Amino acid sequence: SNFLKEMNARSVWHPMAHPADSQQNPPTIVTGAQGVRITDVDGHEVVDGVGGLWNVNLGFSCEPVKAAIAAQLDRLPYYSIFRGTTNDCVIELAEELRDFFAPDGLSRAFYTSGGSDSVETALRLARQYHKVKGEPGRIKYLSLKKGYHGTHTGGASVNGNANFRTQYEPLLPGCYHIPAPYTYRNPFNETDPEKLAQLCLQALEDEIAFQGAGTIAAMIMEPVLGAGGVIPPHESFMPGVREICSKHGILLIADEVITAFGRTGSWTGSRHWGVQPDLMCTAKAITNGYFPFGAVMISDAVAEVFEKDESGRAAIGHGYTYSGHPVGAAAALACLAETKRLNVKDNAAARGAELHEGLKSLQADLDLIGDVRGGHGLMCAMELVSDRATKAPIDKARINQVQEVAYQSGAMVRVSGPNIILSPPLVLTSDDAQVILSALRAGFDSL
Ligand code: PMP
Repeated sequence: SNFLKEMNARSVWHPMAHPADSQQNPPTIVTGAQGVRITDVDGHEVVDGVGGLWNVNLGFSCEPVKAAIAAQLDRLPYYSIFRGTTNDCVIELAEELRDFFAPDGLSRAFYTSGGSDSVETALRLARQYHKVKGEPGRIKYLSLKKGYHGTHTGGASVNGNANFRTQYEPLLPGCYHIPAPYTYRNPFNETDPEKLAQLCLQALEDEIAFQGAGTIAAMIMEPVLGAGGVIPPHESFMPGVREICSKHGILLIADEVITAFGRTGSWTGSRHWGVQPDLMCTAKAITNGYFPFGAVMISDAVAEVFEKDESGRAAIGHGYTYSGHPVGAAAALACLAETKRLNVKDNAAARGAELHEGLKSLQADLDLIGDVRGGHGLMCAMELVSDRATKAPIDKARINQVQEVAYQSGAMVRVSGPNIILSPPLVLTSDDAQVILSALRAGFDSL
């Protein structure tokens, strides 16, 4: 295991980490995974409280998915779906997705190879939609502060966290970030979720008025903000955004890379709030981690604008070699069938409520847990502070210690800035949830 750690330090450049990090803090080397548990190179086994990276909804031992991938590799391992060719798998999957997303008003699938690709595709489709409609001046994008939309240049430009933007500037011009409905910290010092939602909606209206509605292509948002620290808005917020976007002819892009397929306790985050977006970005759990894959789901109304385009140029010039990869599509078909058969959304809601309650009990005992967020399926977070009154963030060494001791005590949890985030597989049991909670308690007790 030491040899692997040495090779890692000299050869692997880890995403989202400083190059020196992997030398100073060698990462956990995962060598196996079964059910909801992962095993490391030293033979230590823990419950995966991170669910891969918000994506392993069905756990790691999904036999029907493995079988579907193996069969597909034998039959047709790859062919492109560029002009002139397609494959049977992606057609069948598109029909299944159309059925799954019908309550969201979405009927067409544009295939991608992952979440960042889905975001980029949606941003491009939005601009192109307005061009085809005869409004080429609609080129700007709106998004939420603390929103996360992947790492491509368009996605980075709409990311709400400046840390993911400033080091890569200049990015896309014309991207504006609206205050998020984040009750624990916000520019209005408003702690009432409903009042805060109204203030954020007003800020959105103000930004649109300032920019001029006719210059804006789309608003992109996560129905429950994920990587920014699990921030569920008040129930009035997303419907309010939908109404404002419709009023001004701005497309609403729901970034559901994390939330689609049951994580929030509903089949999609948008449905959770009773909203139909114009475009929806999906990836991650669409293949449960078995294959890099994604799809942007498109409404009839948006699709028709492209389909009736007389210039013949609509939607030409965008797509990926691995768009609609048949092995990914076979994996996605099997995942969708399992997702529905196991009805994972209901387990996500029940286990999510248990985890959320458990975190609130921890907070009652521990001053350094400033805020606990969750209550919408299996997405929970704790924001740690060094002082509850001033809300000064906890220092990095202490939060890392909580994570490390929690790992030694039986659960992988994720640290993101001052937050500890939980996004375990949706097939978690109550016993697994208790393992995560007691591992966290051990982590805090060690401080
Ligand atoms: N959008 C959201 C909401 C995400 O959480 C992520 C990844 N965490 C992405 C986009 C980017 O997805 P990927 O890492 O698959 O490119």
